[in-house]
Amino acid sequence: MDRLKTSARLMIVSDLDHTMVDHHDSENLSLLRFNALWESNYRHDSLLVFSTGRSPVLYKKLREEKPLLTPDITIMSVGTEITYGNLMVPDDGWVEILNQKWDRSIVIEESKKFPELTLQAETELRPHKVSFYVEKDKAQAVSKALMERFEKHGLDVKIIYSGGMDLDILPQGAGKGQALAYLLKKFKTEGKLPNNTLVCGDSGNDAELFSIPEVYGVMVSNAQEELLKWHAENAKNNPKIIHATERCAAGIMQAIGHFGLGPNTSPRDIMDFLDCKLENVNPGHEVVKFYLFYERWRRAEVENFEPYLASLKATCDPSGVHIEPTGSEHSLCDGIDGMRSIYGDKQGKQFRVWIDRVLPTQISSNTWLVKLNKWELSGEERKCCKTTVIISSKDAAVPSDGFTWMHVHQTWSEEETNLKDHSSSIIVF
Ligand SMILES: [Mg+2]
Repeated sequence: MDRLKTSARLMIVSDLDHTMVDHHDSENLSLLRFNALWESNYRHDSLLVFSTGRSPVLYKKLREEKPLLTPDITIMSVGTEITYGNLMVPDDGWVEILNQKWDRSIVIEESKKFPELTLQAETELRPHKVSFYVEKDKAQAVSKALMERFEKHGLDVKIIYSGGMDLDILPQGAGKGQALAYLLKKFKTEGKLPNNTLVCGDSGNDAELFSIPEVYGVMVSNAQEELLKWHAENAKNNPKIIHATERCAAGIMQAIGHFGLGPNTSPRDIMDFLDCKLENVNPGHEVVKFYLFYERWRRAEVENFEPYLASLKATCDPSGVHIEPTGSEHSLCDGIDGMRSIYGDKQGKQFRVWIDRVLPTQISSNTWLVKLNKWELSGEERKCCKTTVIISSKDAAVPSDGFTWMHVHQTWSEEETNLKDHSSSIIVF
């Protein structure tokens, strides 16, 4: 992970389904709250790792359905695939480790002899993961019998049962916990062991994450019986693991606060920024705050908006320019005035804005170039703008004095370009 030159301040390793993503929260509010917290306070010096049972195909599907951030590292297929960055570059060293005492064809051949097992879809069968469905009351006996057969073939495999239905067969060296242990070892070798690591999960295949020494752990409030049982039997007295009282991503934020790992108030929970002096002020926070305001503005959720508009204008450089995705250019101050025409145009409708991959680079003593992806969900339609913002602080030593927006440049992200009609007569950020 070359993005950070030194140790990450915090590394969050989170499961997705029913942990980061709450499938009972149709508005995805707790996920959006986490996103705003992460991008404003952690993205620049911390690492986000998603660790999911999903294969790459189903993982990408979830990212299309939910407002998930781009993680720095993705661990998929129950710890059998590790990839880096937005481009998802695979870790070849991990593949080599998993090839030891593993033969996928023997695993499939032997498993076929058990009628209790139903093979999962082709997309879920990966080079180092073979998955079945099996009823809860049969899982234990089948696992035991399978293990005996594999041992006879000289294979060293691991069987994980989770979610009350999924039975995964993996190389012994694989699994969410082993993948995390591998990453931590790698960071240690590079001299970049994260200062703190928080693991987050809800089901049986997450238990291994909680077994890694030195990490903090949160079982979200909605954690399944199988994980709670594992905890009661194996880690009951470990003060570094909690069972949150909040569901999913809200439980993760609760754990950040509980263990004192850093700020845990999401900007989404701050209703009045004019009235709120924050300790942790950084360029990332500045842009999160603006786009949150932009969402609330269009949803007609900003009360007493004249002072807000005045304060926004005061943060724009008078000669600052905004280049819109359409290519049209106008002054930043005109852009703020133009927002009047769109106040409340999304009132009562599905409309959310979130930003991803906020990466500030300091380009002079008091100026930052901030790159980010701005996402907008309107009804069923999602679109993404690549956005570059140049902002400066009046006083480099005390950025809490406030930032000035110098320049904003937006382009449609590549995957969007061919899909939509972007002609627009109103000014939008
Ligand atoms: Mg889960």
